[in-house]
Amino acid sequence: NIPENRPVIRQLDEAAINRIAAGEVVERPASAVKELVENSIDAGATRIEIVVADGGKTLIRVTDDGWGIAADELPLALSRHATSKIDGSDLLDIHSFGFRGEALPSLGAVGRLTITSRRAGSDAAEIRVSGGKIEPVKPAALSAGTVVELRDLFFATPARLKFLRTDRAEMQAITDVIKRLAMAEPYVSFALFDASNGNRREIFSANAEQGEMFDALNGRLATILGREFADNALPIDAERDGFHLTGYAALPTYSRGSAVAQFLFVNGRPVRDKLLIGALRGAYMDFLSRDRHPAAALFIDCDPNLVDVNVHPAKSEVRFREPGIVRGLIVSGLRHALANAGHRASTTVAS
Ligand code: ADP
Ligand code: MG
Repeated sequence: NIPENRPVIRQLDEAAINRIAAGEVVERPASAVKELVENSIDAGATRIEIVVADGGKTLIRVTDDGWGIAADELPLALSRHATSKIDGSDLLDIHSFGFRGEALPSLGAVGRLTITSRRAGSDAAEIRVSGGKIEPVKPAALSAGTVVELRDLFFATPARLKFLRTDRAEMQAITDVIKRLAMAEPYVSFALFDASNGNRREIFSANAEQGEMFDALNGRLATILGREFADNALPIDAERDGFHLTGYAALPTYSRGSAVAQFLFVNGRPVRDKLLIGALRGAYMDFLSRDRHPAAALFIDCDPNLVDVNVHPAKSEVRFREPGIVRGLIVSGLRHALANAGHRASTTVAS
């Protein structure tokens, strides 16, 4: 007894597939900004400029001085699961931010995207895609690097548009994304502008730092978190079983009333990870009262094989092969630094 209007199985077209994927990759304007800026970093950029209007809802433009995309590869950049970053043979060996080849096709499916780019030694070209409709590559004018402009994000998915917060809240989320990426890349200069209502207002900027890693990071943290943090933070440098922990952790006297100043990175990738946040808390347990929160920017680096970044499309979650070692490294590395600082402080007082 089969009903007449029995549904049949059909293959979705590429535009529909991309719109579905976009639901996971681009939750809000800040996720689009994150994908585009990560692409610029992956392309070896040293200067990245981000211009945003109306909380990123009407305009997001990312300009970089990276190595660019060759004109004949522009259509591939918009094609799903096409990437220059992995060859697919080893998903545990990832050294770039990107690897899924999903961001640009997703953004082009839910917004109006124009990519203008120039590879050294060849002419600049541009490609446009709007709501999944791709136009042919055209010659363009650009001296170097890449400009990715995204207008009217989610115009093709009005349901998603309705869930966006106020321009102010979206702008705050974008600023947060930029600051986290800027912490991870102290040698790259960043500038974020708000171009709403035809004005252009600088929201955040950080000049490229120079010199040795700890100095560069300290300078960048001073720009982002303030001089006071940088002056009250202890350099952290510890190693255990292939995991390397570096960064700065603030003295207990510089603690906060909330967890606003906790920044964690795994192989250069900003992450929000319960294991790491718990370890950070654990390390300060003897130094802070329960209602105070430590301030720190910590970087865990390890062989890509020891951590799976392939857990979530937005990639803010990671999974360690040996979580116990990572936790132990953070707790002991920080405790050691804090105890030493306390010891130094008390001997200074005594003498
Ligand atoms: P993924 O970053 O996962 O590879 P994307 O969809 O974000 O996927 O980008 C697709 C490809 O386009 C990248 O692999 C890269 O080759 C190229 N690309 C994107 N943005 C840039 C950029 N700013 N500079 C140079 N190449 C870029
Ligand atoms: Mg990418």
